[in-house]
Amino acid sequence: MAFQPNPLKLGFGLMRLPKNADGTIDIPQVCQMADRFIAAGGTYFDTAFVYDAGGSEAAFKAAVADRYPREAYTLATKLNASMMCTDAESAKAEFSISLERTGAGYFDYYLLHALQRSTFQKYEDYGIWDFVREQQKKGLIRHWGFSFHADPELLEQLLEAHPDAEFVQLQINYADWENPGVASRRNWEICKAHGKPVIVMEPVKGGILADPIPEVRSVFDASGSSASYASWALRFVLGLENVHAVLSGMSNLAQMEDNLRTMSPFVPLSEAEMDLIHQAQRALDADKSIPCTACHYCTKGCPMEIPIPEIFNVQNRKKGSPKFRTVREYDIVTLHRGRAGSCVACGQCEAACPQHLPIIDLLRQCREELES
Ligand code: SF4
Ligand code: SF4
Repeated sequence: MAFQPNPLKLGFGLMRLPKNADGTIDIPQVCQMADRFIAAGGTYFDTAFVYDAGGSEAAFKAAVADRYPREAYTLATKLNASMMCTDAESAKAEFSISLERTGAGYFDYYLLHALQRSTFQKYEDYGIWDFVREQQKKGLIRHWGFSFHADPELLEQLLEAHPDAEFVQLQINYADWENPGVASRRNWEICKAHGKPVIVMEPVKGGILADPIPEVRSVFDASGSSASYASWALRFVLGLENVHAVLSGMSNLAQMEDNLRTMSPFVPLSEAEMDLIHQAQRALDADKSIPCTACHYCTKGCPMEIPIPEIFNVQNRKKGSPKFRTVREYDIVTLHRGRAGSCVACGQCEAACPQHLPIIDLLRQCREELES
């Protein structure tokens, strides 16, 4: 079945949904965001079995599936054979749980989730590729593909082994375009060569490019533009060929409005603007901040319950601002949870990290700088 056109191109990523003070998802605000998105012509929603331990799929049901006819939206969700399951049976069970939790009846897009060197073999061993093919034959999946966080060699290998995968979801943003750890450009080129449409994830690198370091701000500020920093990042990926959707994990209505402004209408980057992007890339290359996207994949199995992304955020903010109240912020994020110094170096987090960060070493540095 051919891909349906995706006129808005912006997808509503449901990984970083707004939260109430008690940590639950703020459903009324998600409803408002979904309403605004659909009113602007948006259709593509992206969730996953593991996001918010199932809360994201349930929020989709409450905000979209229960309130809109099926033809008003397309839904992507993902099966994760590495997190929150123990064997082939529990991995495959995610499919029917997602169907029930989302209330969508079928999935427009279904993905094998977060394939990387440490996880892809499980998808082979558990027979997940054949499992999704079977669900497609039953009419429960329109299109299937995989999301990918590894090197171009593995991407080639997977596309050769599974040439019927219909699309690939890749981390692409201007900061990671030439980053060897992410290989945005090379992976995008491989998909193009294989004729696979690309879904872009992390276009603002987990928010890092929406609130960038001062050196990057100065580049865009000097241009005299009042556009948001996030809009520069979105325009970079929206201008790429072979992109079916660009997912933005929006966390509030203001971010939704800002993204919709960028889309209405979308204006590709000019040559002069692309030059600014190159300057921003150089500034980021020279930066020593920890490039954590706060996806939280690392925290789910940490035996010491260490809030890894929150600790990295404190460390980055400490470096960026001498006035930052480091001790107080560090105490807040580690309250009732593990501190950097409690890491037992089990390595679970590093195997899960899609950014391939040396978390154990980074936590050691954080301990030295934040706990002394
Ligand atoms: S290596 Fe440290 S931070 Fe990572 S999961 Fe193990 S205890 Fe947690
Ligand atoms: S350390 Fe890696 S896995 Fe953990 S939140 Fe950051 S990017 Fe995600």
